[in-house]
Amino acid sequence: MYRIGIDLGGTNIVAAVTDEKLNIVESVFAPTRAYRPFEEVIADMCTLAESALALSGINKSDCSGIGVGSPGNCDSEMGIVRRAYNLGWKDVPLCELISARMGLMTTLANDADAAAYGEMKTGAAKGKKNVLFTALGTGVGVGVITDGKIYSGAGRGGVEAGHTVIMMGGEKCTCGRRGCWEAYASATALIRQAKQAAAEHPSSKLASLEEISGRTVFELADAGDAVAKEVVDKYVIYIAEGLANLINIFDPEAVVIGGGIGDRGEKLLVPIREFLADNCFGGRERIQPEILSSVNRANAGVIGAAALV
Ligand SMILES: [Zn+2]
Repeated sequence: MYRIGIDLGGTNIVAAVTDEKLNIVESVFAPTRAYRPFEEVIADMCTLAESALALSGINKSDCSGIGVGSPGNCDSEMGIVRRAYNLGWKDVPLCELISARMGLMTTLANDADAAAYGEMKTGAAKGKKNVLFTALGTGVGVGVITDGKIYSGAGRGGVEAGHTVIMMGGEKCTCGRRGCWEAYASATALIRQAKQAAAEHPSSKLASLEEISGRTVFELADAGDAVAKEVVDKYVIYIAEGLANLINIFDPEAVVIGGGIGDRGEKLLVPIREFLADNCFGGRERIQPEILSSVNRANAGVIGAAALV
C-alpha cells in the first residue's frame, strides 16, 4: 500500500505520496497563506494530496492512509491541533476534516515529532528506538522517541525543548520567556549574533557582507575570517549546551540534527560531539549517543508525516 504524507508548515504545505518503505513517489507544495480561515488551508492540503496522487498515477484506494505533521501542540489521539501560534489555530479538528473529504484514515503529530519518527523509520536513526531529533531553523523544534514511540506527554503535544532556558535573564524569546535555547541556537539567533558582532567590528569582513544569513556567516568562517569564526564557534556551543541538557534527561541512542543548520553536516557535528563528550553527565566514560545529520533533510517533515500512517 502507498501512503500520503502532508507537512503543514507556517510558510509552505508539502504533500507527498510514498511507497511502503517511505520513498517519495511524488510530492507537491504550495504556500500555506496561514492568515486564511483554517477550512481553506485544510482544503488546500487535500487538493495538494490529490495532485500528488494524480501526478504519481496512484489511486486513493491503493493508499493505507494520510499522516499530517503540523506545527504547535497537536493532540494525536483526538486528531486535533490544539494550539499553533504561527497558524493562528486553536482546537482545529484537522483529522476529522481531512478524513471527511479524502475518505482515508488520517493521523496527526507535531511536525518535529513526525520528523523524529521518520528519521527512526527510514533516516539517520534507522533501527534505533531512543532518538532525539532537533530541527534548527527559524526556531528550534524537538521530537523525542522513547522505546520506539513518540513521547507525547500528558497533553499529548510532545516536548517544547526549544523553550528550556540556557541563559537566565538572557535574550527575549518568542514564547515570552528569557534565555530560551531557541533564542540562542536557532538560525534566527545565529543571524542576530552575527549582526551584533558586525556592529562591534565595523571594519570586519562580516560587517561588509551584503546580506548576513546563516549561509554567509558559515562561508566566511570557513574561509578563515576570525570575527565570523568566533560567532560560529560560540553558536555551536549554544547548540551543544541545549543538547547536553536533553541527553542528560532522555539518554538517547542517537541525536539527529535537521533543519537548515543541520545541512552543515560534519563541520557542525564534530565540535558538538567534542563538547558533549566532555559535558554530558558521565563525561567520556559514558556511552555517547551518536550525533548525526538528518538523512531526510528537507523532506524530513513529509516523510515523517507519511511514517505516521
Ligand atoms: Zn522560549
